[in-house]
Amino acid sequence: MVKRLIMLGAPGVGKGTQASRLGKDQGWAHISTGDMLRDAVRGGTELGLKAKSYMEQGALVPDELIIELMGERLDQSDCQQGFLLDGFPRTVFQAEKLNTLLESRGLALDGVVSIDVPNDEIVKRLSQRLVCDDVGHVVIQTAEINEGDICSQCQGKLIRRKDDNPETIRHRLEVYDKETSSLIQFYEEMGLLKVVAGLGTMDDVYTRIREVLELT
Ligand code: AMP
Repeated sequence: MVKRLIMLGAPGVGKGTQASRLGKDQGWAHISTGDMLRDAVRGGTELGLKAKSYMEQGALVPDELIIELMGERLDQSDCQQGFLLDGFPRTVFQAEKLNTLLESRGLALDGVVSIDVPNDEIVKRLSQRLVCDDVGHVVIQTAEINEGDICSQCQGKLIRRKDDNPETIRHRLEVYDKETSSLIQFYEEMGLLKVVAGLGTMDDVYTRIREVLELT
C-alpha cells in the first residue's frame, strides 16, 4: 500500500524513531531533513556549509535550501512505494511548496500524524538524549550509558547532538511554537490531520500511530 505521510511534532516527541520503524515495516522511505542536513554538514558540502550555523543555533535553515533538497529527494526511486516526511515541512510556506512539488508530480498526501507531548517532558527527553555518530540511533542517557560509549545496535559512538543543550532546546521549542505549530491548523483545514498522544512507551505510541492510519 503506497502512502505519503508527514510526521509532525516538536523536537523530541519521538517522530524520528517512530517514522524509522514505520518506514521499515511498511517499505516507505523515511525522509528526515535533519539527518540529511547533518550528513551535509559532516560531508562539508555546499549545503552543509550554508546550513551549519543555523542548525547550531537551533534556528531554521532558509526555506529555499530545504525545498530544493526535498524536490531532489522525492524523485529518488525509494519514494515510489510511499514516504514518511520527518522534520519537513516546518513552516506554512514549506507546506505550500510541498503541495506544489507533489501536485507537479501528480501526487497527493494521504495523512499527517501529529505527535503530542507536553513541553516539560520534551525538555527532559532531549536533555537525556544521546545519538550514535553512525546511524543516529537514539539512546537515553542513564547512570550506565554515557557519552563516548558504544551504541549497542550498530557499534557507533554515542554522542550528544550539538543542538541538544538546554539553551538551544528552549530555542528550538520556541521556533516550533512560533513557526511549526501553525501547520497543525493548515493540515486540519486540508482534512489530513491525525493527532496521537506521545506519552507512554515507544510501543504504545507506535500502536496508536498504526491505529490512526488504519494499518492492520
Ligand atoms: P531535526 O533533526 O529535525 O530536529 O532538525 C535539526 C535542525 O535542522 C533544525 O533545528 C533546523 O536547524 C534544521 N532543519 C531540519 N529540517 C528543517 C526544515 N524543514 N526547515 C528548516 N530547517 C530545518
